[in-house]
Amino acid sequence: MILLCAATYAVGSREMEKFVVSFFAGLFRTPEDDWWGYVTNGGSEGNLYGLYLARELYPKGMVYYSEATHYSVQKNLHLLNMPGIIIRTLPNGEIDYNDLENTIRMNRHLPVIMLANIGTTMTEARDDVKRIKDILKNLAIRHHYIHADGALSGSYSAFLEPRPAFDFADGADSIAISGHKFIGAPIPCGVVIARKSNRDRIARSVAYIGSMDTTITGSRNGHSPLFLWYALKSLGVEGLRERARHSLTVAAYAVERLNENGIPAWRNPDAITVVFPDPPGSIRRKWQLASESGCSHIICMPNVSRAQIDQFVESFVEAMVLI
Ligand SMILES: *Cc1c(COP(=O)(O)O)cnc(C)c1O
Repeated sequence: MILLCAATYAVGSREMEKFVVSFFAGLFRTPEDDWWGYVTNGGSEGNLYGLYLARELYPKGMVYYSEATHYSVQKNLHLLNMPGIIIRTLPNGEIDYNDLENTIRMNRHLPVIMLANIGTTMTEARDDVKRIKDILKNLAIRHHYIHADGALSGSYSAFLEPRPAFDFADGADSIAISGHKFIGAPIPCGVVIARKSNRDRIARSVAYIGSMDTTITGSRNGHSPLFLWYALKSLGVEGLRERARHSLTVAAYAVERLNENGIPAWRNPDAITVVFPDPPGSIRRKWQLASESGCSHIICMPNVSRAQIDQFVESFVEAMVLI
């Protein structure tokens, strides 16, 4: 077993982890010499870490997040005992900026801790970090922290043109991604990147392990950095860009094929998630579709092919004829 715990123990994948973290720090346009990160057990832990840093900076802060936010965020707020306000979403799943502005205005005496979704779970809508930053500026909010939950889309948004506003240069203070979604690691994992200056406030030196205690868990699994390192080394920036291009093309194709067959499918701009009204139960079970509020989705991960989309559309249409 490879561990990622300590400086006292010398067998590890620390060098690989450093490569993975610096790769994403570059991709997310972190400020020079003010970034830090680690390989987590998944997107949820990355969100917990981002919110934890925010709370240590602003213990009196109020957290704002949209209705479409992943359930891990509410759980994390509960664990951290942080107060939060849920903001309405627009029909596409993006945060309602007017509702956000009005709600912050009513609480403008409190520091703002913003949880931005860089791809919501159901419709993969991206909250625009630049627009959120503008709202904070408008309201003259000086104390603020923006954490970006980029579990799915955070891993490939940097390859899009135009580039969505989601990273450090756009105003984020931390970003969490999952490693087992777009990147395809075979076990749950993720990466969180934050400002080093913020991390330094919570770091504690621990003599027994011979290193600083900076992460949520103690001993960590050292295989995750290996898998991520391998994926990044073998794909490279070009390979990842190509995977994104492929996924987007397949998603566009899926929308087109479903629409041709009278199914009002849609997707957000530059999203690989295709949304449509719930198909009959037989189709939901066969294709193991996630459903919420009458809508289902498919996510065109890099391994999904046009042939699979054809099969899906065919069985969907057949099942509708039977109703
Ligand atoms: C999947 C997902 C998460 C949780 O990620 P895990 O890696 O499963 O912990 C958080 N937020 C969003 C938007 C997600 O899609």
